[in-house]
Amino acid sequence: EVGLACDHARLACNSIKGRGDVSYCVYDEMLREKLRKQQYVVDHIDEALEKEFVKVFYQPVMRVKTGKICGYEALVRWEDPNMGFLSPADFIETLEHFHLIHKVDEYVVEKVCKEYARLKKEGEPIVPTSVNLSRLDFELCDIYSVIENLRKKYDVPIEYLDLEITESALNENDRHLKEECVRFHESGYRLWLDDFGSGYSSLNVLTEFEFDVLKMDLVFLRNIDHNEKTKVLMSYIADGARRLGMEPLTEGVETEEHYEFLKSIDCERAQGFYFGKPQLMDETRAYTKGKGYEWESFEL
Ligand code: C2E
Ligand code: MG
Ligand code: MG
Repeated sequence: EVGLACDHARLACNSIKGRGDVSYCVYDEMLREKLRKQQYVVDHIDEALEKEFVKVFYQPVMRVKTGKICGYEALVRWEDPNMGFLSPADFIETLEHFHLIHKVDEYVVEKVCKEYARLKKEGEPIVPTSVNLSRLDFELCDIYSVIENLRKKYDVPIEYLDLEITESALNENDRHLKEECVRFHESGYRLWLDDFGSGYSSLNVLTEFEFDVLKMDLVFLRNIDHNEKTKVLMSYIADGARRLGMEPLTEGVETEEHYEFLKSIDCERAQGFYFGKPQLMDETRAYTKGKGYEWESFEL
């Protein structure tokens, strides 16, 4: 039917909008399925948050020198009764596209605060947790007030909640984002630069923004085995981070060799499947306890 064919053609065109590397797209079964999934995400996110199908998983972050757990990263998952398990790749971008991502990020921060209150009540060891913020959080809501209100509601110390901002979100010319980062930083929040080295952002952002931790992207360790230059580069980045007042962290540690290498370049922190995959808090605690890891003491 011609009308329907035109609609499909438009959907196919929209799906490659903004991409310089493709010049045409055919509406096929794969695209249909992808769009169906996107629509599902948009239509069901509110319900998924309300019914708690959306879960927060925690991945340990290690202090390389001591081998102790010095923090966790909160990573979102969606366990849907109809669609099954959805990873961030299945919904984060869609929610950003439809300007709904702040709902998820607010939800994650609240869950992290609640988890803190629970662990404290149960007398469990506590280490700071970092949450991932989307660039759009800064536009779609007053993310500073949202986080401050939740933190106060659950009586969470500022030192417990670290904020990750991905490199690709940064733009030296984005005054609002810069001002909000300053606002967080001056209140005492620690800001982490996530996915460093994965994109094309200017190195100048390192001087324009105040970060406390610089997280080297997974791509570095993926390259290390077949490119000797990667090691040199990582060593320079770790050193440069320290000299700019940031603690270097490398993500994607999967092997003993990776870990040994990070020790050799004095990279302060490490995160990856080698130490533990993201899991629900109680599961990740049981898992790391089983491996004999201890927690760093959390001093205020
Ligand atoms: P990210 O913040 O860079 O998170 C690290 C990703 O690497 C996670 O994928 C984690 O599971 C994965 N990872 C950790 N260790 C290893 C390893 O040793 N090897 C490999 N191959 N992968 C490892 P995940 O959980 O699928 O998250 C993907 C991205 O989605 C995150 O990247 C982050 O940008 C975004 N994201 C996750 N949760 C949230 C959230 O609550 N809010 C927002 N806005 N974005 C989120
Ligand atoms: Mg992150
Ligand atoms: Mg990352």
